[in-house]
Amino acid sequence: MDRVVAGRGTRVEFSGTRTFDPWAMWFNLAPFILLVAALIALLRRGKVRSMSVRCGIGYDLHRLAEGRKLIVGGIELAFEKGPAGHSDGDVLAHALCDALLGAAGLGDIGTHFPDTDPKWKGANSLIFLEHARKLLDEKKFAIEHVDAVVILEKPKLGPHFPKMREALGRALGVPAEKIHLKAKTNEGVDAVGRGEAIAAHVVATITTS
Ligand code: MG
Repeated sequence: MDRVVAGRGTRVEFSGTRTFDPWAMWFNLAPFILLVAALIALLRRGKVRSMSVRCGIGYDLHRLAEGRKLIVGGIELAFEKGPAGHSDGDVLAHALCDALLGAAGLGDIGTHFPDTDPKWKGANSLIFLEHARKLLDEKKFAIEHVDAVVILEKPKLGPHFPKMREALGRALGVPAEKIHLKAKTNEGVDAVGRGEAIAAHVVATITTS
């Protein structure tokens, strides 16, 4: 039996057997559990907010000339003409390189690989992408997605996209699923439409945390 003794202050005495009540325990712990859950939610929210997303755009065009190999996205295609240029003239790789460098604020392809440097004469343009990837890695950027359009009258590019995505993904160290390619003709209009040139537009999305 509990007894209360009055005096200068109040003294409470308990007697009898205490029993463990799990419901009472959870009831007492509930505010603490809710507080921890709220803190975890706030921390997660803060982490998401601190992630920065950036986009970059790239464009390239090369004249098509006889006697040149047609290389697009790191893959050689059978055709009578290919892009004229200091390197292999791969417009897709060049536009992609510019899109990545632009997103990261690291200049452009001409800054890193000037076409006046004999070192890059006839170079495989996938090298430029590997270098861009290294620069992005140093700045803690991650490549999230690439979306590209290649404009060419002939030949058809679609059947070669799986190989191009693999080659580009390998150079950038990302899965091919992150690289999306599309092909267009120029409906016979302008130099691209007359089969005198090939062009590419690329948008790249990168993140940093
Ligand atoms: Mg170029």
